[in-house]
Amino acid sequence: MITITFNRALSILLLAGILVTVGGIFLTNKAIGEEGGRKIVVWQTGLNEAAKDQLLAKHGGVKLKNLSLVNGSAVWLPNKASEKALGRGTGVLRVEEDILMSAQGKPSSSATTQPPQTLPWGIDRVDAELVWPSGNNADPVKVAIVDTGISATHPDLTANIKGGYNAINPTKSWNDDNGHGSHVAGTVAALNNSIGVVGVGPAIDLLAVKVLNRQGSGFLSDVIEGIQWAMNNNAQVINLSLGSDSGTQTMHDAVAAAHNAGVVVVAAAGNNGGAVIYPAAYPEVIAVSATDSNNLLASFSSRGPEVDLAAPGVGVLSTYKGTGYATMSGTSMATPHVTGAAALVLNTPVGTYDANGNGLWDPSEVQQKLQDRATDLGDAGFDNLYGWGLVNAYSAVQP
Ligand code: CA
Ligand code: CA
Repeated sequence: MITITFNRALSILLLAGILVTVGGIFLTNKAIGEEGGRKIVVWQTGLNEAAKDQLLAKHGGVKLKNLSLVNGSAVWLPNKASEKALGRGTGVLRVEEDILMSAQGKPSSSATTQPPQTLPWGIDRVDAELVWPSGNNADPVKVAIVDTGISATHPDLTANIKGGYNAINPTKSWNDDNGHGSHVAGTVAALNNSIGVVGVGPAIDLLAVKVLNRQGSGFLSDVIEGIQWAMNNNAQVINLSLGSDSGTQTMHDAVAAAHNAGVVVVAAAGNNGGAVIYPAAYPEVIAVSATDSNNLLASFSSRGPEVDLAAPGVGVLSTYKGTGYATMSGTSMATPHVTGAAALVLNTPVGTYDANGNGLWDPSEVQQKLQDRATDLGDAGFDNLYGWGLVNAYSAVQP
């Protein structure tokens, strides 16, 4: 329905000069992919904004947003021919699909009531509660949950939320309309109080970055903008409980840029039972597979040589949208156990793990310590199911 009238509607908007609203209103339907639609253009360095706009206009395109992290822009192009022509243009490195990425977890039950606080089995299993025996130790490490948002009203989360951004529509709230992002956030940093659940690090600071819609899917360009925003707002760890079966050069460039800037990037290995998805499969990203309460790999968990660590991901209780709670399963749920552990490690002195001698934690040093201190599962040493083993937050913060 929207797609049929899309081209006409866009022309009208173009004539009216209403360009900024195009992305928010129309560009949420992947069916337009055949005829054109949302793409990512990567520019050659040194091209100014006016030149970019001119190039796009020449091929009937519209710029939706800049992606400075990868020297690119999310754009709308009318058809395949315009995409090819733009790709050959001076100043353009390449034009790529703006692929869809999906949340990697599903709820099995949810409730709106607030039960008395219990220790979720996963938090217990990674020994996180042993890190903060006397309550909420200060932990100013900032973790960005790049996801469906985080509930802005949840009494078990709000005290830890230090800011947020909606990359799908910056004029709208980062509040979670799905529940997935709130669930992930709660595993990282639900408060240690009298209600609900408690996270791996109940004093970790959260940034709520909304890049996935109510259905749990979103464009790569919004994910990249979310990563960019998180970096600009001093995130030290970025949790990506999302992914796609295929990767792109630009997706790889974005996570590599975050890693190279000193940000620990943790991502879900995927729920297809097969090969590790992207961006988890990239070497700059800590890929997390999912285990059950028997420390066995979940049947749905992706596996392969790209898996770095395993963590609890079956029947995980955490915070949900609104003021609710839910039990969910997926590598999405495993990922924040590792993210939280990384944040706890970042709150300790780097000590002997300072491989490059700069006195600071670098992402590869954090990853090394998490791997060294993990509990080996499956075949001795590294294996394709559990990577280096089950993450252990308590062991990871010991000198
Ligand atoms: Ca709580
Ligand atoms: Ca270092």
